[in-house]
Amino acid sequence: MLVVQKYGGTSVETPEKILKIAEKVAHDYENGNKIVVVVSAMGKTTNYLINLLYQVNPDANSREYDMIASTGEQVSIALMAAALSRFGKKSVSLTGFQAGIDTDSTYSRATLKRVYRGKLVSLIDDGIIPVVAGFQGISPSGDITTLGRGGSDTTAVAVAYGIGADLCEIYTDVDGVYSADPRYVDKPKKIDRISYDEMIEMAAHGAKVLHLRSVELARRYHVKLVVKHAHMNSQGTIIEEAGQLEEPLVRALTVDESIVKIVIKDVPDVPGIAAKTFKQLSDRRVSLDMIVQSMHRDGKNDIAFTVSKEEFKDALDAIDHVKTEINASDIHSDDTVAKISIVGVNIIGSAEIVYNMFDALSSIGVNIDMISTSNSRISCIIKREKIREAAKAVAERFGLEE
Ligand code: ASP
Ligand code: MG
Repeated sequence: MLVVQKYGGTSVETPEKILKIAEKVAHDYENGNKIVVVVSAMGKTTNYLINLLYQVNPDANSREYDMIASTGEQVSIALMAAALSRFGKKSVSLTGFQAGIDTDSTYSRATLKRVYRGKLVSLIDDGIIPVVAGFQGISPSGDITTLGRGGSDTTAVAVAYGIGADLCEIYTDVDGVYSADPRYVDKPKKIDRISYDEMIEMAAHGAKVLHLRSVELARRYHVKLVVKHAHMNSQGTIIEEAGQLEEPLVRALTVDESIVKIVIKDVPDVPGIAAKTFKQLSDRRVSLDMIVQSMHRDGKNDIAFTVSKEEFKDALDAIDHVKTEINASDIHSDDTVAKISIVGVNIIGSAEIVYNMFDALSSIGVNIDMISTSNSRISCIIKREKIREAAKAVAERFGLEE
């Protein structure tokens, strides 16, 4: 089999752990697999690097952000390639540029354009194990870019697609995808198989186990994805095409505490207001989550939406830019909110599931501030101070615990 194996920060946080991984990779290679390794920066290195930059200049531009943030992975690839040769394997470390990973030029959250297969495939054919730096690529002008925090998963899937791998394995510090984050729910259930669609909803709404764009890419290009524990022998979770004709089912809950709500007050109820507003957000490539327009009297509306904390500055800048033009009376932001979501199959088609979600929250006196739904998800924005209690109530209602 031709396999891409991606190892996350916690599985390569020390030289000892790197050696253990190298031993495993060497073993898998000896069993007849052709392997490309993708690694993240060691442990919390990326946080450390970004913090260094902001100590020097809190307003440092995103080109310098990418320049420094990408160095963590460069350390890991050299260590991993060196470790592999200790186990008698030929290995070569490659930066994103060297591996042929092209992106656009949106620093700090670049979009992948293509992965050249030539270099990687010729190394593999020569019996060499390429070790590719995750998270980074190269812009058309030759600058280093990064793919957004957690982006090494996306590198791995892109490489898997680029070289036509049979499988992309994401090794992490848990043995798969669970029905809830153990920080919120005591005994979440391990999920053996889950569809791309459900996994995308989970990743987009707070589950940290996979980078959202990695699952979107995997779905689009039919890359078979497995999430596994790096240092334990486990089956992990297989992420694949949805099964057919499934009954409505709640598979998991997710919590996202790193969101901010922005409310634009009293804008005129006429065509074009939302378009003008969201044009500004679009120009800054802010990713949006919930958008709610509430109508009230006198021909005025409030428009509220949520964004991630990371993109809050950009979002506020966008709204400030357009505030006068759209005649808003005030802009208000609220960072005391959090989002709880349930994810599963055909959720919105089942009024019973919808009812139970809202009833679980009301049974503990939680007020719902905003609601959004998709075919496979219901999300509610609530007060952050209630989020733990809410997660427990929702987990209990839908049987998401062992
Ligand atoms: N090292 C990068 C980060 O911490 C990328 C990754 O770990 O996937 O965001
Ligand atoms: Mg990660």
